[in-house]
Amino acid sequence: MKNWIRPEIQALSAYHVPDSSGYIKLDAMENPYRWSDELTSKWLELLKQSELNRYPDPSAQLLKSKIYSSLNIPDSADIILGNGSDELIQMIMMAVSGSDRTVMSVEPSFVMYKMIATFLDMPYVGVSLADDFSLDAGATLTTIEQYQPAVIFLAYPNNPTGNLFDEALIDKIILSTDALVVIDEAYYAFADKSYADKLEQYENLLVMRTVSKMGLAGLRLGYMAGSAKLINEIDKVRLPYNINVLTQLSAEFALDNVDVLNQQTEQIKKDRESLVTSMDALEGIDVYPTQANFVLFRCKSKSADEVFDSLKQQKVLIKNLSKSSASLNNCLRVTVGLPSENEAFLSALTTALAN
Ligand SMILES: *Cc1c(COP(=O)(O)O)cnc(C)c1O
Repeated sequence: MKNWIRPEIQALSAYHVPDSSGYIKLDAMENPYRWSDELTSKWLELLKQSELNRYPDPSAQLLKSKIYSSLNIPDSADIILGNGSDELIQMIMMAVSGSDRTVMSVEPSFVMYKMIATFLDMPYVGVSLADDFSLDAGATLTTIEQYQPAVIFLAYPNNPTGNLFDEALIDKIILSTDALVVIDEAYYAFADKSYADKLEQYENLLVMRTVSKMGLAGLRLGYMAGSAKLINEIDKVRLPYNINVLTQLSAEFALDNVDVLNQQTEQIKKDRESLVTSMDALEGIDVYPTQANFVLFRCKSKSADEVFDSLKQQKVLIKNLSKSSASLNNCLRVTVGLPSENEAFLSALTTALAN
């Protein structure tokens, strides 16, 4: 049989999700908190009304209205929903795709930008961040000039580094290009910073978010705001009914109770500070500043692989980024969990770093 699978696809390795059963799971930036029994009962009551024999509302009007009011999206912007923000990244690229249309981002950053560019046979350019993982102004502006990208993705805060990029420089980037500039605010809840207020100011700006990191990873729901003109065009490549009945109802319910999610976020931010303080006190690692719900650190006295394996043996699962790029050599990333999970991680890490 002829192998019709494109060589670029054959060369990829599939996005790997390790089996986490039996582990303290601190590898995927999930919110560790579940709902109270009372809230869960109310939610299940509501789900009884869902009509699984019917297609969902194709435009999810009610859910969208709750997103505007609960998640601070200006009324002047339009929004589009995706099956996770991963699907939104795919829609943006499908709408601009072409073998002469360059996708640009920074490195290291979220891997899906490059992967989806590859899926769609689009050229991709990744500009290296500076040593402290800030944006390299010169290199970024020169690359824009040279490649004239169609779309630029900037994660704000960045994953996997955790930092926010310089706001004045991002503004300069948006002004320097006619590319669509997508600010990926997957972690905005943990950072108190957003580009949503600047949507009116910049017609090439799109602000993308997800409910995954704020406590609803299981629902698969992302949303993106931009001008009506841009959102209407991107909406044409959206598959009909991409947000299912159960997700629409559950997300509406969750946003009616957004205070619960916000309290969890506040708790996670506090716990992040204690976790970082404790990690800073450990010998053998360098801890990077973070505005997200995870902490990036570099192993100095032992290799990241050794530390990762030791943590795993102690039943703590985090993310090993050591092989993902040269600038992340010996780097590991841990998600902020429950206080008890953070304690278990710190104790396992102390053991892993000891001789
Ligand atoms: C997790 C993450 C996403 C994807 O979120 P989903 O909505 O779960 O698909 C997008 N961008 C960044 C930077 C992320 O870290």
